[in-house]
Amino acid sequence: MGLRREDLKFKYYSREEWGATPATDRRPIATPVEYVIIHHTYIPAACNTTQQCFNAMKSMQDYHNSMDWGDIGYHFCVGNNGGVYEGRGWNVIGIHAGRANNHSYGICLIGDWRVAVPPKAMLESTKRLISTGVQNGWISPNYKLIGHSQVMATECPGTTLFNIISTWDHFSTDVTIFKTTVAKNNALTNILHIMYSYVFVAVILGIIGITIAVPALLPEPGENEVFTYDFPFVNRYQWGARQPKEKTILQTPVPYVVIHHSYKPAACYDAVQCKKAMQSMQNFHMDDRGWWDIGYNFAVGSDGTVYEGRGWTVLGAHSLHFNTISLGICLIGDWTTSLPPSQQIKTAKALIAAGVELGYIKTNYKLVGHRQVRDTECPGDVLYNNVKSWEHHVSFPATYLDLVQVKELPKEIKDKLIHGNSTHIEA
Ligand SMILES: [Zn+2]
Ligand SMILES: [Zn+2]
Repeated sequence: MGLRREDLKFKYYSREEWGATPATDRRPIATPVEYVIIHHTYIPAACNTTQQCFNAMKSMQDYHNSMDWGDIGYHFCVGNNGGVYEGRGWNVIGIHAGRANNHSYGICLIGDWRVAVPPKAMLESTKRLISTGVQNGWISPNYKLIGHSQVMATECPGTTLFNIISTWDHFSTDVTIFKTTVAKNNALTNILHIMYSYVFVAVILGIIGITIAVPALLPEPGENEVFTYDFPFVNRYQWGARQPKEKTILQTPVPYVVIHHSYKPAACYDAVQCKKAMQSMQNFHMDDRGWWDIGYNFAVGSDGTVYEGRGWTVLGAHSLHFNTISLGICLIGDWTTSLPPSQQIKTAKALIAAGVELGYIKTNYKLVGHRQVRDTECPGDVLYNNVKSWEHHVSFPATYLDLVQVKELPKEIKDKLIHGNSTHIEA
């Protein structure tokens, strides 16, 4: 069921044309589909030429594949010049809107449409694409048009674009079916998510006699965080992270958590400031320090939101000689003379608790400030004094001079410490 270009009232480019790699996630979608969900990309930026749009499609597919989504998440994307680029197409379930995936097509208008106004050609082609879907029976004639932000905690598709689509035919504020799903399954979903294993899920569902398709219940990796943590979470894609140059797996569960401050950049108090802070830290770590990525596993803003750094399963670059046995959490700001706001501390503690629940941090983990493992003032005097009162804080190691006696540290690292011959390229 492809589209015949000659029948279409818009320029259309197939997967083959933009150079897609084969999809590995091809779960059929039940048609006609009831919802059309509009997205923007935020990153990559708007594309003006067909070649730029091809590149944008490829970069999104690479990024979504890196999160094990098995293909680009969207069904179709639209460029500035009005070209429509085939994503997953009409036949399969996408990964673009969490629990709404099974009931919706995701159409992405390439670019950042928070302030800028999408070009007319782009908007017209989007409407024509939807009409084509209705005419061919893929989209229900009574379909509902919504923005991504109506079903998930995201700014997508950007305020400007959202205001535009809210004037279109079929725009709807009726998203109750997704809300009901969330409410009904929330507790169970959280339990299931903790195990985070499809095999476990299938077994448990079998035992308790629930006959529901697993993908309908389990949120999609990377699309789910806003629902599965009890604090706000912004993933790498949402803050516009660059791709890491390389990655090494972190052995989990880790026995230590290391608390940092950023010193610079200064504290950030809203999503816009904090995303900028993440980008500037990542640029500094990659471009000035030559590291593979932002050094921290996570950062927490004064907005009480967690910003994903390297995440739970990737070796960090935050505490020289100590990275292999710890997760590094940075409280963005300079906390030498003042305390982070209470929601920032609360979220940092909740993040650690989530790491324990998810099995990435040992239940008997030890909490330290960066200065306990390295000759540094980090995480700032005032924050450090506060950290000493957090659960699981230990006073050993007291300084980096104690590292040779840390029993969890591997022998080769201790040898390096003793011989003062560090060849570790990061942190
Ligand atoms: Zn979106
Ligand atoms: Zn530090």
